[in-house]
Amino acid sequence: MVQKSLHTGVDDVRRWIEIANFVAEEPQAPTPGLADNDLLDRVVGRLRQIPLGNWPPGLLGRNPGSTMALRMEADAEVDPVAVYDLVYSITTALVKILAGFSDPDLARDGHTIAWLPHSFVGQAVLLEASGRMQTLPRGDYAQFLNDLELLDDARRIRRCQICPRFFLAERRDQSACSPTHAHTLSMRKWRDSPQGKDYAQRHKINLYQREEHPPAANTPNNARR
Ligand SMILES: [Zn+2]
Repeated sequence: MVQKSLHTGVDDVRRWIEIANFVAEEPQAPTPGLADNDLLDRVVGRLRQIPLGNWPPGLLGRNPGSTMALRMEADAEVDPVAVYDLVYSITTALVKILAGFSDPDLARDGHTIAWLPHSFVGQAVLLEASGRMQTLPRGDYAQFLNDLELLDDARRIRRCQICPRFFLAERRDQSACSPTHAHTLSMRKWRDSPQGKDYAQRHKINLYQREEHPPAANTPNNARR
């Protein structure tokens, strides 16, 4: 049986992923200084759609005095720039961590280092070939790093191969964020397979023949020639 603390950790990671997706799903996600007001409003609006009880612990209020010290009330004034900065930082950190786990040297050396974005104040995380992460959490993002570190295998954090969303894989072979995108992905893989290509080729030939050589009933004159 899974311990409660582990369950909680996974739920917390899911919340961080949900938040990272605010920026991941934006077609354009510039660095915080360059984000326009529309984008800031969209990101704040999406944060507000998450019930307060589901906001990641440590996101708000735990670090009084820091830019992340937003108040917990639903209608509280929040600083859109601070929210965007947080979401952007989490998203770029996940990108770096995912890239680190795909580092070809990881298997050879047994570990690699992922350098986190500027907002993490030069922090690095140690990624192990086993999927474990070691961090030295401090500052505004300590809770985020703590929560990731609790994952039995941080390689479960993945990016959908169909859309830009991050997700937490339930199974080792899961490559898509949802059943719908898993279906799209399997169709795409099939199309790219030898059988799929053969099918597509024959389908094209059939179409061609139908267009260039309509069924005999339509071409009595041709048939007589
Ligand atoms: Zn997807």
